[in-house]
Amino acid sequence: MPDDTSSPDAWIAGRMHHIDASGIRRIFDLAAGLEKKIDLSIGQPHFPTPEPIRRALATAVEDGHNGYSPSPGIAPLRQALQQRIDEQFGHDDRRVMVTSGTSGGLTLAICSLVDPGDEVIVFDPCFVMYRHLITLAGGTAISVDTYPEFQVDIERVRAAITDRTKAIIFNSPGNPTGAVDDPATIAALARLAAEHGVVLISDEIYSRFCYDGPFHSPANDNDQVLVTDGFSKSHSMTGWRLGFTHGPATVIEQMIKLQQFTFVCAPHPVQWAGLAALEIDVSEHVDDYRRKRNRLVERLAPHFRIGGGAGAFYLFLESPRGSGIDFVERAIQRGLLIIPGNVFSDRDTHIRVSFAVDDETLETGADLLIELAGQ
Ligand code: PMP
Repeated sequence: MPDDTSSPDAWIAGRMHHIDASGIRRIFDLAAGLEKKIDLSIGQPHFPTPEPIRRALATAVEDGHNGYSPSPGIAPLRQALQQRIDEQFGHDDRRVMVTSGTSGGLTLAICSLVDPGDEVIVFDPCFVMYRHLITLAGGTAISVDTYPEFQVDIERVRAAITDRTKAIIFNSPGNPTGAVDDPATIAALARLAAEHGVVLISDEIYSRFCYDGPFHSPANDNDQVLVTDGFSKSHSMTGWRLGFTHGPATVIEQMIKLQQFTFVCAPHPVQWAGLAALEIDVSEHVDDYRRKRNRLVERLAPHFRIGGGAGAFYLFLESPRGSGIDFVERAIQRGLLIIPGNVFSDRDTHIRVSFAVDDETLETGADLLIELAGQ
């Protein structure tokens, strides 16, 4: 047997070579050498997990909720979520399941819906996971450009739909841009999907973080929209891996079947903490992030072109000179950690800055960004 087929390198499936993590790894390697850093790269809230949620987790562990749970989730959490979803949408056929984070819901959704050869429309830039999950399922991600304002253009989506299009993944408020689409555009997208028999997957993980108006879900306009959601961002529970997905009962049934044979269940004690989280008002944190957004935009707008920024906790800034990667390398030399836009995009023109940090870090980070923009 030739040497190369006996080496572990040769065992790796071809699909893994479509996932290129070298860009982001290089940035983290550069950053690892820094002694003091101003970190605006973080994709998670900076406030502590609210105390009643922490207590509910500890109690669940003490009470012995440590074995497997039913695959769809514990009944009290499912019922509480279902009741809220029914009140919000009133769709007869809409069912909920509990997942291992929103990522778990997205993974199950894509694996349950996408066949080899299918096309899935994503908006460029978008959350890193979407393209990789589509490839993993054997599908092809079709990018619809949203630069420079990061708003969905319905005519571009219409033009991208072919007879192979299976799904569209939509994310408003969005990572990495913080863009929020207006309700009329969201309704038009929902109707377009219905017209073409395409599944609209709406990733609503940032729904609480809408700063300039109420959140609008496309499930209001199309009763077959599949919604992925979770507690990570809203309740500062990123490490606890709790999410939920709701949509047409047939799709949810298939996703539950796959969960049974992959994740098995979402972490059981965390599901009890999720029940407590549903009672917690997070508006104080949302107000705090709105204030931080306002402050950062006020400071950076004279120096950077900013599209989006109406939600989530990111600004996606155009690099005033050079590529996004060049800007990030110069930033890291000054101790500022940010993410190059090409991690999320076919283009390398922008940088992602997170404002989920304390005020002092935010001000120092803004000073450095302004200084770098002028160089
Ligand atoms: N969707 C988007 C748009 C995200 O930004 C993230 C987290 N960065 C996720 C999904 C995954 O979140 P979770 O922790 O719930 O898996």
